[in-house]
Amino acid sequence: MQPKPNIVHLPVYQPGKPIEEVKRELGLTEVIKLASNENPFGCSPKAVEAIKREVENVSIYPDGAAVELTEALAKRHGVNPDQIIFGAGSDEVILMIARAFLLPGDENITADQTFPQYRHNIEIENGVVIEVPLVQGTHDLKGMLDKVGPKTKIVWICNPNNPTGTIVTHDEVEWFLSKVPSSVMVVLDEAYCEYIDDPSFPDGLALLRKYPNLVLLRTFSKIYGLASLRIGYGIGRAELIRSINQVREPFNTSRFGQAAALASLQDNEFIERCRKANKEGISFLQGEFDRLGLSYFPAYGNFIMVDVKRPAGEVFDALLRKGVIVRAGHKHYPTSVRITVGSAEQNAKVIAALEAVLQELAARV
Ligand SMILES: *Cc1c(COP(=O)(O)O)cnc(C)c1O
Repeated sequence: MQPKPNIVHLPVYQPGKPIEEVKRELGLTEVIKLASNENPFGCSPKAVEAIKREVENVSIYPDGAAVELTEALAKRHGVNPDQIIFGAGSDEVILMIARAFLLPGDENITADQTFPQYRHNIEIENGVVIEVPLVQGTHDLKGMLDKVGPKTKIVWICNPNNPTGTIVTHDEVEWFLSKVPSSVMVVLDEAYCEYIDDPSFPDGLALLRKYPNLVLLRTFSKIYGLASLRIGYGIGRAELIRSINQVREPFNTSRFGQAAALASLQDNEFIERCRKANKEGISFLQGEFDRLGLSYFPAYGNFIMVDVKRPAGEVFDALLRKGVIVRAGHKHYPTSVRITVGSAEQNAKVIAALEAVLQELAARV
């Protein structure tokens, strides 16, 4: 029995190493994972309460359309409920967009080092990926526009870009949208937008009112700290969201995810606290990288990409042995690792471990 030829070469997703596995393999008692951009402060206590309340309904299917959550978010974002679609994480929204829109041979434009799920789902649909190199770790929107042609179906912009952490500004995205034909969908993945208060960061919702070909992706996995409950969403023009809804599985999000997300929206204080701690964490890490003479990209999300000036795999392994899990393996940045901003304590630990590791590796020659 043969699978589809276009999936044979696809990698099985390699997650950040789980803490328990690292403890067991290396005989460590304490391990910190700063590899998957999870929230070091967990989630809102209001979300925990909502999850507990939902336990009694566990045998009953969820509301497939997530009506209550959709209405709450529509109100918050000033859009109509028919402009929002939920997925099992925004990962699934990416999958559904590809499934609903891509025909074999349709061209997609992405950065050359960005979130891997765009390419993954494009390839499953037999679409074509055209990669445009990042410039200083940042999307090159001019370069991407140059690649738009009659076969272009979707342009994928990850903002801030994972793994580099850089952003394109409101004016840059608006310029791009004003130039790109309205028949081309532009997906703006804003998984980390709640962390950002820089005034130059795009107001995606304002752009959505002007450009009907724009789709925004958001998630409850990052600042809201609900990664394991798999709940994210897309916002776009109603007609386009309807098409995505037509390929959605009937019960794609869980009761727990919906209830926890709804409760999280009522806890601004938690989000404020996480945003503030993240900013402090970024300043601390940048200061320490400066002290260690390491360069890094400007960080807008809850992660930072730092050039360790040695093969990243080597530094990854050495950090792992000290009980710190980071992310390496970035094709175009072979000497950089991506580190999630942790709690103050975790940030201090990652720096101490990195400093020791770099000294050990330099001494080894
Ligand atoms: C984490 C992440 C997502 C998806 O997260 P979900 O858990 O599937 O919602 C999407 N895009 C980017 C850029 C991410 O970093």
